[in-house]
Amino acid sequence: MPERVVVVGASLAGLRAAQAVRSAGHAGALVVVGDERHAPYTRPPLSKQLLAGEQEHADCAFPVPETLDAEWRLGAAAVALDRERKVLALADGAEVGYDRLIVATGARARRWPDQVDGVHTLRDVDDALALRAALDARPGRVAIVGAGFVGCEVAATARKAGIDVTLIDVAPRPLLPLGAELGERAAELHRAHGVDLRLGTAVAAVDAGGVTLDGGARVDADVVLVALGAIPNTEWLASSGLALDERGGIVCDGTLTSVTDDDILAAGDVVSWPHPLAAGEVVRVEHWTVAAEHGALAGRNALADAGERTAHVAPPYFWSDQYDVKIQAVGFPARAATLEVVEEDGPRLVAEARDADGRLVGAIAFNNAKKLAAYRRELASAGVAA
Ligand SMILES: Cc1cc2nc3c(=O)[nH]c(=O)nc-3n(C[C@H](O)[C@H](O)[C@H](O)COP(=O)(O)OP(=O)(O)OC[C@H]3O[C@@H](n4cnc5c(N)ncnc54)[C@H](O)[C@@H]3O)c2cc1C
Repeated sequence: MPERVVVVGASLAGLRAAQAVRSAGHAGALVVVGDERHAPYTRPPLSKQLLAGEQEHADCAFPVPETLDAEWRLGAAAVALDRERKVLALADGAEVGYDRLIVATGARARRWPDQVDGVHTLRDVDDALALRAALDARPGRVAIVGAGFVGCEVAATARKAGIDVTLIDVAPRPLLPLGAELGERAAELHRAHGVDLRLGTAVAAVDAGGVTLDGGARVDADVVLVALGAIPNTEWLASSGLALDERGGIVCDGTLTSVTDDDILAAGDVVSWPHPLAAGEVVRVEHWTVAAEHGALAGRNALADAGERTAHVAPPYFWSDQYDVKIQAVGFPARAATLEVVEEDGPRLVAEARDADGRLVGAIAFNNAKKLAAYRRELASAGVAA
């Protein structure tokens, strides 16, 4: 067993990794390094219950068992990795040595180029509290640039609070991973709730008082949110020689082990790894459940020798809550050759995603958790067989 295990990133994947290291019987040193000053908390409520004022920061905290017996280095970003010496450098000047390292540094919100003060992004609890305070103080109109999951969830939360919303995206539909038909239904859902949806609309400039569209038209707003997806937090690894893909993900094998270094594993939003349901292609996903599964697996694998580690094959699953609709998806519907609604009953529907050979590769449900769970089980057993 390695003597000293270090986890970088003190959020969902990092916490689950640390817990798995201890559960697997590791009695040596366990260090968790995190750049946020907060103890680990869960992010999904940040665009939903916390933003709506139904939950507070404390409600989002993950329970951390005392038996974890970890040394927490919070508020200290890892700034460099020296793989030869097996040492991390922290922003406060400290060095932390490791035998096995688990990188779980996640992703951050993509900002507008040269984003000015007063324009919001949403990734951490401080962002969410700042956005909530702004919406409370100036509840007239919010302009949201980007109709992905975070943008759409904030739109739904704001509408529920009676705030006017303009939601702008250059794409022809919101929520691109849902495909054309379900994306159109999502668009209808937001329009039905009074969102001013501007699709196929490019943005030229963003400032604290609104958004300037290509062509010069102006959307004035009291609060502006840029919700353009996330970027992996891996710049600090640039000089380490660790393989990163073109989008900054850490390139791992199926066991979440870096392809460059057997003593380094990665977990969560930061990982690019080959998945059997994606025909073995390398994927990077930003889903809560995957980060939790990755953390648990990376923690166990970190204690094993490279040849004895197991692969992550579970089908990726996520959910999103918008108004009274729970959207759930499993597998890789966005990569499918076809996506067909196979069942519909009022506000409930199920769509199956299949590859070019007709093989089931994913499913999407609106308000049908039971059916989605069945697809999840089916895809999980297919993954085990692959
Ligand atoms: C607003 C919001 C709503 C969401 N809602 C849903 C949802 O409804 N359903 C769903 O499936 N998923 C949802 N997600 C996605 C889900 O929360 C993420 O997939 C999950 O948080 C990923 O966990 P992680 O531990 O990999 O990364 P993160 O949660 O990003 O954690 C990474 C941690 O590492 C820290 N870090 C970064 N760089 C360094 C460094 N150099 N040194 C030390 N620490 C560092 C970061 O500050 C952070 O604390 C949502 C995400 C957001 C932002």
